[in-house]
Amino acid sequence: MPLPAIPFDNSYARDLPGFYAPCQPAAVPAPVLLFFNRGLAEELRLGLEGQDDTALAKLFSGNVLPEGAEPIAQAYAGHQFGQFNPQLGDGRALLIGEVIDRADRRRDIAFKGSGRTPFSRLGDGKAAVGPMLREVLIGEAMHALGIPTTRALAVVATGEPVYRERALPGAVLTRVAASHLRVGTFQFCMVHGSPEMVRQLADYAIARHYPDVREAGNRYLGFLNAVAERQAALIAQWLHIGFIHGVMNTDNMGIPGETIDFGPCAFMEAYDPRAVFSSIDEGGRYAYAAQPHIARWNLARLAETLLPLIADEEGRAIELATEVIDAFPERHRRYWLAGLRAKLGLAGHIADGDAADTALGESWLDLLHAQQVDYTLAWRRLADAAAGDEAPLRALFPGQPGLERWLQRWRERCAAEDAGADAAKARADAMRRVNPLLIPRNHRVEEALSAASDTGDLAPFEQLLNALRRPFDEDPALARFAEPAPGEFMAEFRTFCGT
Ligand code: AMP
Ligand code: MG
Repeated sequence: MPLPAIPFDNSYARDLPGFYAPCQPAAVPAPVLLFFNRGLAEELRLGLEGQDDTALAKLFSGNVLPEGAEPIAQAYAGHQFGQFNPQLGDGRALLIGEVIDRADRRRDIAFKGSGRTPFSRLGDGKAAVGPMLREVLIGEAMHALGIPTTRALAVVATGEPVYRERALPGAVLTRVAASHLRVGTFQFCMVHGSPEMVRQLADYAIARHYPDVREAGNRYLGFLNAVAERQAALIAQWLHIGFIHGVMNTDNMGIPGETIDFGPCAFMEAYDPRAVFSSIDEGGRYAYAAQPHIARWNLARLAETLLPLIADEEGRAIELATEVIDAFPERHRRYWLAGLRAKLGLAGHIADGDAADTALGESWLDLLHAQQVDYTLAWRRLADAAAGDEAPLRALFPGQPGLERWLQRWRERCAAEDAGADAAKARADAMRRVNPLLIPRNHRVEEALSAASDTGDLAPFEQLLNALRRPFDEDPALARFAEPAPGEFMAEFRTFCGT
């Protein structure tokens, strides 16, 4: 069956010449399809329903490009661990094209691991099977958890090795994103271009992601404000599921407000605000609880690029931008508190209750920290407690008197808003819709990826993926995916950039 014509509409290539370099994917010797996201392909209206695995492998390795694809490597800069690098760019990625999905949203389709580009510097432009399947697992889990994220459309094994500490099987990932605009894209325009170039990029970003701010009195300030709003919400969602991105460099912060780049990310097990797993994050710059501060820092870097557009007079521009940056912590805190209330099973506010609810939530987190209780299970068992079954929760806190006192406070707070006989059940149900049972447990992810990468066995990957797509379901058949890692595993666990 011939490949269908994919209705690409490549606005980035069309509207932003000078922001990218055209580049072809490298041919791969023996493409084999490892993963294909049929649901996402349908959402994108790619018309690939009748294609077999061989055809899909050719397509998603880059060996056969569909008509209308215009592969380009995007230019960007970025602060990496606080150090500015003026020249990053897609060193191993290519934007293939954009499509309009069923919900009328413009989405990027991009390869990762498709060979060298003008931005590769010393890199080989390649990627390995393990880290690319990791993008699948984490992206699909985040999506199922209701968190804005890029998603994997396909992974193809290339049939050639990539050389890291050892030879690994190579792969190409096809990634779908609202766009690949980053804070670092603006930084690139600032250092290599002009305020006019930043304006062109900002206008593009506004039209694509924030059309409402076109009406704002000061549209570039409105844009900064709108990006800050989405990041405030996104980071709150990360914190609520125990996600640690691991490498929140400005080139890994997306303008559309999606989670992007699942390199050394990890999920917290025992609650610890200082949790950090990345082997290269020695100072804990990107630790769990540091993420809101880093988001603010990154937004300040975005703001710097926009200053000449915000006001003619620099002092005035700085003043206006600073207001937005300074408002970020409170803005984030409001999202965080709303999410915290939902996790605690509190439907509404009570008069002057913000401080009291924050204190209630924080003392719960303190209890988890003191006892090193598993973050995900603790919340889930609190939902059981809401339904009247407190034993599973108590079992997580052996010999902890503090739990009783805290539960008493929580019950009183719940009672303040309860009405009707079904209140307890309604609360438990609502809590189970926001407190997942299944997150990508680090040991399960590692297990699945090593089976796939070392022995070519995809069964553990597929079983885990299947479980992660239903994170809120309590299915006994999936129980092993809910269990925390053995203590020794987490003590030694380090993540690595997927390069
Ligand atoms: P990341 O850590 O994946 O966000 O990548 C940071 C930068 O390094 C980006 O400019 C990437 O394109 C580039 N990069 C990472 N790995 C490679 C590689 N194997 N070959 C070429 N460039 C790479
Ligand atoms: Mg990156």
